[in-house]
Amino acid sequence: MTKVLIMVLTACFVLSSCGNKRGKSRETRTVAVSVSVMGLFRPRALTVQVLRGTQPELRLSEGKILRGSVFRIDLADGEKLSVVSDGARHESRNARLVTPAGKPWRGEFLLTLPGGKTRKYRGELQIVVGDKDLVPVVRLPLEDLVVGVLAGECSTSDPPAFLRAQAVVVRSFLLASRRRHAFADFCDNTHCQVWFGSGDVKKPFRQAGEETSGMVMTLNGRVVPVPYHACCPGVTRTPTEVWGKKMPGITSIRCGYCDDAGHHVWTWKVTNERLRKVLRASSLEWQSGAPGENISGVRIDGNRLLTEQFRLMLGRALGWNKIYSNSFAVSISSDTLLFYGHGFGHGVGLCQEGAITLARSGFSMNTILNHYFPMLRIEHR
Ligand SMILES: [Zn+2]
Ligand SMILES: [Zn+2]
Repeated sequence: MTKVLIMVLTACFVLSSCGNKRGKSRETRTVAVSVSVMGLFRPRALTVQVLRGTQPELRLSEGKILRGSVFRIDLADGEKLSVVSDGARHESRNARLVTPAGKPWRGEFLLTLPGGKTRKYRGELQIVVGDKDLVPVVRLPLEDLVVGVLAGECSTSDPPAFLRAQAVVVRSFLLASRRRHAFADFCDNTHCQVWFGSGDVKKPFRQAGEETSGMVMTLNGRVVPVPYHACCPGVTRTPTEVWGKKMPGITSIRCGYCDDAGHHVWTWKVTNERLRKVLRASSLEWQSGAPGENISGVRIDGNRLLTEQFRLMLGRALGWNKIYSNSFAVSISSDTLLFYGHGFGHGVGLCQEGAITLARSGFSMNTILNHYFPMLRIEHR
């Protein structure tokens, strides 16, 4: 790292830290958020096992109240959920754990799927019928979800300053982007943020959550749903380039700290025929500014896609280890396509690999956040 860069980063820290006063947060301590969980598995049956808390009851939408600490729930006819209790089968549009007084019950419980996949949660539980599957919706304090997402998205070996920066980014996203789904604010996979439940959350994540409690990124006093990704292509991308929409306060910056990261450069080779088959396309056209430059879009059977849409489409079809990012060039030789790309993920906002390098170099959370979000302030909510 050059001395000039160190001075610039230090100046950024001094200039921006005025908005970062320690104190008790209020808003983020009282806000609760809901998450639809285990959706990747499209469950048609699940078992709820209550672990801790006063004994709840399972209230069905038809008004029926079921008692017990283990409830086995199935999907009936793809439209209703079905619960067997005391030898009788009950059908309902949804079910909720409640206290004997009829209030939403809060406590610790396990959700287990037929294959044995089990996750532990702490909060309120409602189960609704989705698109021919059961959708468990867990409601919990926002700060608990911040810590849970850190455990899902980061590693215990990540440096503390990075985990603190990530906590602020996660919290800002959660506070500013609720109601992303029909039945819940968020899902628990990469569409929103990865969350594996409330069980076994390690100390570094809890510490990062507590030390940044209430801190969010703002622009003109409004919380910004700041995005993040694994590794940028060297320069972070703008929301307009990637998603075709503006996000106030989110700009492109030269990262400079992820050049040695594992996915900074990637390649993927595929035949034209296989790619067309996977995409169910009869024609593919690559759009670029000049030979050798990154492509700006893909035309599939006449429909233009942004490279991010193409990445997501291919990821869903073939897995996420083929096209790692939306910054790539394509060279065509006979019937073979060679993709040559940079970065991992959408490339907008905080670059996790770069932020980890900055933290390992001794830079603070504030410096990291100001590097990736020069237009935003860090404030308490
Ligand atoms: Zn989602
Ligand atoms: Zn980067």
